[in-house]
Amino acid sequence: MAADTTIFHSTRSLKPTCTSKEAIRKGIAEDGGLFVADSLGSERYDISKLQGKSYQEIAQDILQLLLPDYTSEELSSCIKLAYGNQWANNAITPLQQLGNTRDFVMELFHGPTCAFKDVALQMLPQLMSRTKTQHENESDIEKSVMILTATSGDTGKAALAGFADVPGTSMVTFYPEGKVSRVQELQMTTQVGENVKVCAVRGNFDDAQTGVKQIFTNSELNKNIEESANTELSSANSINVGRLVPQVVYYFAAYKQLVERKAIALGDEVEFCVPTGNFGDILAGYYAKMLGLPVKHLIVASNSNNVLFDFLVSGTYNRQRSFHHTVAPSMDILVSSNLERMLYYMCDKDTRLIQMLMNDLQQWGAFEIPENVLAKIRSLFGCGWANEDQIREAIYDCWNKYKYVIDPHTACGFFVMQNIPHDESTPRVLLSTASPYKFPRIVAEALNIEHVQDMNDFKCMDALSKATGTKAPSMLRNLENKTPRFNDVINVEDMPEYVLAQAHNFAK
Ligand SMILES: *Cc1c(COP(=O)(O)O)cnc(C)c1O
Repeated sequence: MAADTTIFHSTRSLKPTCTSKEAIRKGIAEDGGLFVADSLGSERYDISKLQGKSYQEIAQDILQLLLPDYTSEELSSCIKLAYGNQWANNAITPLQQLGNTRDFVMELFHGPTCAFKDVALQMLPQLMSRTKTQHENESDIEKSVMILTATSGDTGKAALAGFADVPGTSMVTFYPEGKVSRVQELQMTTQVGENVKVCAVRGNFDDAQTGVKQIFTNSELNKNIEESANTELSSANSINVGRLVPQVVYYFAAYKQLVERKAIALGDEVEFCVPTGNFGDILAGYYAKMLGLPVKHLIVASNSNNVLFDFLVSGTYNRQRSFHHTVAPSMDILVSSNLERMLYYMCDKDTRLIQMLMNDLQQWGAFEIPENVLAKIRSLFGCGWANEDQIREAIYDCWNKYKYVIDPHTACGFFVMQNIPHDESTPRVLLSTASPYKFPRIVAEALNIEHVQDMNDFKCMDALSKATGTKAPSMLRNLENKTPRFNDVINVEDMPEYVLAQAHNFAK
């Protein structure tokens, strides 16, 4: 093990430093920056070791490199619990070839909620529950962590599924009443687990999210919860190191599968195309490259919220623009938080520059990076975006050409991949981030299935099955007959009191 494991610090300052366990426990650095390790890239992973390894074995190798203060026993128990038989596919993230092309799709949606966030959110709770706090004396009782999230539908469910019954943790999820789909609501309200709670809030998603943010910054409430329920509040945000690093693994797993299928020889370069929102998924690809994976290009695919596209073209990040509600809602984001980590490494770890840029973003809603940094970024990152019609066309085209059904998020990537110039000899992997059955209505419409407007979401799933010969995941299809466990509905101003009461309930 490395001599010094207190290697993480904020992207905005070199001090203080902390271990990966502390970084995972805290989530975000005190100055608002993201935790990074300067050692990233100094140690490389020997890709010849990938041969014959299972997903879980690759995860063990990669996570040990990135989280050096976890023991190998701790990591193997995390991995066993995170990537067990709750996954519908033994490969965890299997690869599918598109026709006879050199384009592949990596399916990241075989986890318990049928979307890519499962890969990280099955692991984060395991990592979190092994972050023992430092004790002054032995008699201190271990504090428990309570996760709070506001969700517009998908992330909340994936987090609930990950934290359910994980020792030392509990979780409350708020969602806007009547503003999530029937399937999404049932996915959340039927969640099992003694340590989880789901509650609807009267208002829209922003109201619920603002309510949660106010709870985090309410120091009196936090102190009260800590003292009366021995519980700390935390978020399962995608900037958490414990959500980021599990995603690095599947880039290696994809490479291994390409070698096994003889699509490439060991050492050949590949490209990845990634439907992007908060920049977490694609950042993991950049980490994989820094660990030695032969990645030629990483392609950012956006929807109409194309702030990253404009940034990668011009060097100016400008969040002052209208927000679009699209058919790929998990990518409807104007501030891609994880971008800050990529900028940190690309500007040679200049914390002062990052601090300045983020300050500009906060004050003026925009920042501009130096030309040499932009040139460096552009030599690795490509970009493109799809509007609403192009997303629907891409779903149709992919089915028509390859008899392969994709969801609207993956469709953004597919569209970009079809339209961006590239070198035919380099294989490309499109990351598929959700099962098409999570968005059955839009997919069915895009495939010109008739009478969709008269069907509920479950009937859309059936129609989609019939038209394509694919099968709806039972976790989604069976929701229709499940009885909700949770039916609380509250006002935004009652959220703090609600959280306090739940902390006491869970502490019993
Ligand atoms: C979260 C999400 C994304 C975007 O991933 P980021 O890591 O935020 O870039 C894309 N597709 C789906 C289905 C998602 O849930």
